[in-house]
Amino acid sequence: MFDTILIANRGEIACRVIRTARRLGIRTVAVYSDADATALHVAMADEAYHIGPAPARESYLKADAIMEAAARSGARAIHPGYGFLSENAEFAEACAKAGIVFIGPPTGAIRAMGSKSAAKGIMEKAGVPLVPGYHGERQDPEFLGEEAERIGFPLLIKASAGGGGKGMRVVRSAAEFPDFLASARREAGAAFGDDRVLLEKYLTKPRHVEIQVFADSHGNVVHLFERDCSIQRRHQKVLEEAPAPGMKQTLREKMGKAAVAAARAIGYVGAGTVEFLLDEDGSFYFMEMNTRLQVEHPVTEMITGQDLVEWQLRAAAGEPLPCGQKDLAIGGHAIEARIYAEDPARDFLPSIGLLAHMRTPAEGANVRIDTGVRQGDEVSIYYDPMVAKLIVWDTDRAGALRRLRKALADYQVVGVTTNIGFLGSVAAHPAFAAGDLDTGFIERHRADLFPDPRPASDRTLALASLDMLLRRTDEARRAAWASLDPYSPWHLTSGWRLNFDNHHHIYFLDAEEKVTVTVHYRPGGYLLDLPGGTLFVRGELDPAGDLLADLGGARVKSTVVRHGSTLTVMERGRSHTLAIHDPYAITGAEEGTGGRLTAPMPGKVVAVMVEPGEKVEKGRPLMVLEAMKMEHTITAPREGLVARLNFAVGSLVSEGAELLAMAGEEGG
Ligand code: ADP
Repeated sequence: MFDTILIANRGEIACRVIRTARRLGIRTVAVYSDADATALHVAMADEAYHIGPAPARESYLKADAIMEAAARSGARAIHPGYGFLSENAEFAEACAKAGIVFIGPPTGAIRAMGSKSAAKGIMEKAGVPLVPGYHGERQDPEFLGEEAERIGFPLLIKASAGGGGKGMRVVRSAAEFPDFLASARREAGAAFGDDRVLLEKYLTKPRHVEIQVFADSHGNVVHLFERDCSIQRRHQKVLEEAPAPGMKQTLREKMGKAAVAAARAIGYVGAGTVEFLLDEDGSFYFMEMNTRLQVEHPVTEMITGQDLVEWQLRAAAGEPLPCGQKDLAIGGHAIEARIYAEDPARDFLPSIGLLAHMRTPAEGANVRIDTGVRQGDEVSIYYDPMVAKLIVWDTDRAGALRRLRKALADYQVVGVTTNIGFLGSVAAHPAFAAGDLDTGFIERHRADLFPDPRPASDRTLALASLDMLLRRTDEARRAAWASLDPYSPWHLTSGWRLNFDNHHHIYFLDAEEKVTVTVHYRPGGYLLDLPGGTLFVRGELDPAGDLLADLGGARVKSTVVRHGSTLTVMERGRSHTLAIHDPYAITGAEEGTGGRLTAPMPGKVVAVMVEPGEKVEKGRPLMVLEAMKMEHTITAPREGLVARLNFAVGSLVSEGAELLAMAGEEGG
C-alpha cells in the first residue's frame, strides 16, 4: 500500500478520497487553484500545493503542474477522482513514465472506452447487447441519412466522444435529420474537438441501469450489483438508487454477467461502471463504460458495506480484490440525491454565490453527506455547481425514501438557489414512491414537479415578521446596554411612543408584489394584520438562532435567515424567500430625529433612486448601501424635497457620513 497519495481533484470527491486514505493511515496531498486556497479539501489534506489560476484548464486539467506537485510531495500514487483528468489516457501515461501509480484502469482500457463508437465495436464482439444503430467510421451525411432510415425514428444522434449529454439530439422524423446532424456535429466539435457521431434507436421509456464492476490485476472481476439512475434532467442524473426498484434476480445476474464480460473484454483493472438502457420488455443494451469512480458510487457502498475507494487503492497497489462475487450481497436500499446550486424553474441554470447559511441533516448510519463545501464558501462560475450528495439508507426502499424526504426537509441552504425543493417534490411524488421510474420521469411529471410559484402564505409572512421584530428587540437591548442610560424609554421596542398610535408597517416584496404586514404591539406579543386576516403571534429565538414561534396558539419551529436584503423562511421542508422592501420601516423609534440620512455603517453606495429637487413621500427608498454583503435601504423619514445628494453610485462612505440632505417643513 502507498504511504502518500495525491488527489488530482477538488470538491466533494477529493474530500471523499481523503477520508478513506486517512482511515487507512495514508498521507494525503491536495492540489488547489487560486479559487480553492481555503477550500475544504485543502484543509483536510496533510499537505497541499497550488497549481494555478481558477479556470480548470489552467489548474486541475494541467497535467504537468500536477505531476510537479506529486514530485515535490513525494506522492507515489495519484487518485484522479471523476471528471478532470480521470479518463485522460495521456495523463495516465505521464504518471507511468514518472514512476507514479495512476489509481485507475490501464491506459489501454481508458482508450478503448474513450470513444462511444469504438467501445460499441468491442462490446459487440464480446457478445454484450447493443441498442440497434450505427457506430461505424463513415460520417458523410448522405450515408448517415440512409442509416437513419434503416434504424427508424425516433432516433438519437450522439457524439462519439460525448459526455454530459453534450452533442445529443433526438430526431423524430427523416425531414429533421440533416439539421439535427449538423447541429450535433457543431456542438460535439466545440465541446470535444471531435465531431464524429453515432446513431441509435431512441428508446421511448427506458431506465438507466448501470452495473458497478471491479477488477484486480490478478484476473479477478466482480460486479457490485446495479444502480438505477433514471431520474435525470437534461440527460444528467439527479437521483440514483441501489438496488434498482423491481429488479428481478435473474435479470440482475444477466446484466452483471454482461458487465463483467465487458470489463474482461478490455483487460480492466480498478473501478468501472457499465451503463445500460433497460427497456420496458426487460431487454437491456450497452450504452457506455465509465473507466473511473462514479459520482453515485456511495449508494453501492451503502448496500454492500464496502468502501470502493479502499478497493481502488488496493487494486492500484497490486493487491487482489478484498472478496469474491459470492461474498457480495445486497443489504437494504440506498438513494442518493445530488444537491446542486441551480434553479429548477429556470431550466436548472447554475446559481453562483455565497453559501451564506448552510445547515445539514444529522449524519449517522442512515444518512451520509459527501460534500466539499462549508457555510461561508463560494459556489463559483469555475466548477461544477454541486453542493453535496445526500445519501440515505434503510432496510427497504420505503424506509430509505422516508429518510430522504426528512433529510431533504432538514437541508438548509441560503445564498444560492438550489434544487433541494425540487428534489423534495420528486421524493414526495407518488410515482417515485411506486418505483415507476424511467428517463422521462421529470418531463412526464413536469406539472407536479414545477408548480407555479405561490405567494407567501400568512404563516410565512407571520414568521418573517416575528423574526424581524424579535431580532430588532435583541439589537435594541444590546444597544441599550452599551449606551449610557440603559433604562431610557427611548430604547423601548414595545412600540411605545409619545402620542403615537402604537403600530408599524413591515413591507415585503414577494416576487415582485409588495406585501404589507401591520404590527400592533400587544403585551407579550404582536397582533399582525396579514393579507388573510389578523393573527396574534409571539415567540423567541433559541441559541441556534432558530425561531420558536407561537402562531395563534400553534407552536412552530422554523429558521429565518437574513441575507442581504432578503429573508428566507424555512419551515417543514419548505423555503420561501422574501425581499425586505424597506428594512428601516420598522425602526419607528428613530422617527422625528431627522431620519437615517447618514450611513449606518461603512459601505458602498449601490443605488440612488432619487434626484435633487424630487419630492418624496415618507418611506420612499432613497439610496441603497451595501455593507458586509448586505444591502441597506435608506428611506425618507418624512415627506419632503431631496435637497442634495452627497454621494453617487460606487462611492465608498464611512459610518455616520451624511448621504443626502432633505429640505422640508422640518428643515434639512
Ligand atoms: P453522456 O455520456 O453524454 O452522458 P450517455 O450515452 O451516457 O451520454 O446517455 C445519457 C442519457 O441519455 C442516458 O442515461 C439516457 O437517459 C439517455 N439515452 C442515451 N441513449 C439513449 C437511447 N438510445 N434511447 C433513449 N435514451 C437514451
